[in-house]
Amino acid sequence: MNPFNGKKIVVIGAARSGIAAAKLVKRHGASVFVSDIAAAENKTVEVNILKSENIPYEFGTHSSRVTEADFIIISPGVPRTGAIFTEMAARHIPIYSELEIASWLLTSVLIAVTGTNGKTTTTALIGEILKVAGKPTLVAGNIGTALSDCVESGVAEGFAVVEVSSFQSEGFLNFCPHIGVLLNLSPDHMDRYDSAEAYYAAKRKTFENQRSEDFLVYNADDPAVNKLIEGLRSRKIPFSLTSEIEYGAYVSNHQIICVLDQGKEVIIGTDDIGIRGKHNLANALAATLAARLAGIDATAIRDALMQFKGVEHRLEFVREVNGVKFYNDSKATNVDSTFFALDSFKQEKIILIAGGKHKGAPYTPLSDLIRQKVKTLVLIGEAATLIENDLGKLTKTIRAQSLQEAVQRAFKESANGDVVLLSPACASYDMFKNYEDRGLQFKQAVYGL
Ligand code: ADP
Repeated sequence: MNPFNGKKIVVIGAARSGIAAAKLVKRHGASVFVSDIAAAENKTVEVNILKSENIPYEFGTHSSRVTEADFIIISPGVPRTGAIFTEMAARHIPIYSELEIASWLLTSVLIAVTGTNGKTTTTALIGEILKVAGKPTLVAGNIGTALSDCVESGVAEGFAVVEVSSFQSEGFLNFCPHIGVLLNLSPDHMDRYDSAEAYYAAKRKTFENQRSEDFLVYNADDPAVNKLIEGLRSRKIPFSLTSEIEYGAYVSNHQIICVLDQGKEVIIGTDDIGIRGKHNLANALAATLAARLAGIDATAIRDALMQFKGVEHRLEFVREVNGVKFYNDSKATNVDSTFFALDSFKQEKIILIAGGKHKGAPYTPLSDLIRQKVKTLVLIGEAATLIENDLGKLTKTIRAQSLQEAVQRAFKESANGDVVLLSPACASYDMFKNYEDRGLQFKQAVYGL
């Protein structure tokens, strides 16, 4: 049955996924209207798309048309606060996230990946494994392509691998992946949520509709993950970097071992994996389990793990200059991801470029690694003072006014064999359009040396 035909649907938030959802439901017979609180002058690209798609819209306000809808689709960037949301609640108007309504049309098997860090890497890796195995595969969600834009090209014998952010999952009402993956949990987005618990609860919604025939691949090494999955109905399949797992995946003797119904299988030697660092080994374990549970054989998993070189802006090797290696980890937008980036380097001395828009969490969890590995800390952006207060006494700390200056100063501080690492532990919006812009500007500055 078509869930959209003849319905009055309002999309709140005219960003990429909101517009994709509006187009999708329109194709399926809905009468759709887009409402965005931002001024039209700041949304010229979106206005032009809506015009050319013949979709009615309003900017700068939410009019009464919003509360006349049969249901609402909300873009992930829009927080559910303000008078309009109070009124929608009073009128019992259901609010769905874009991912959820797109998933209603899915014919492929749904694999959903979430966690604080590693979502994009693991989603891309699972997609790569499925493609190597020759399966028709959609890769969508927070990773870039809206599911609404590609859901209709899915096929019953194929897979949809979807990256889910907490902003998407917080509103899930009946989203139900056959295979869910929960990578890790640490405080993030404290500017949107009141507490870490509220943020974790938003993540949990990805799995709350799973049934006993569904799977939940989870990180057994993470105490917050272990606590969060209590009471969920799905079959829980653990992975661990630190202990042998009876039924699941783990690392032993520098090999990834997978134990499922097929028995014990050695998947790959850890040195043969294309992506580096402990955190990426955890991502590889998660992807291995998800793929094996999807029926993919060990050979395709091994081939894909060898080939996959990671995603741009995630611990991406840029270039070597005078024996100094430059890495772009612009996607490290929280403290935990910077922790793992520092931890990925063994012997090298690191000149760390950090700072940006503060997200609310303290930087002190980095203290030990800063003391052991960071020879100079180069700080940029709004959070520079806060970071200096938390970490400045532990190593030589300097400030730069721009990323370009930071790269030049970092290069001056470095010697043959060192690493210059951009891993900001902060959001990018104080100085850049987004983390991609920050990463590209970093790479440009590095190529300019
Ligand atoms: P996400 O999509 O969850 O933001 P990414 O794959 O884009 O995750 O990686 C974001 C950042 O987190 C990068 O800096 C990356 O090096 C780091 N990272 C990746 N996987 C993990 C992990 N399992 N644990 C901690 N940090 C990770």
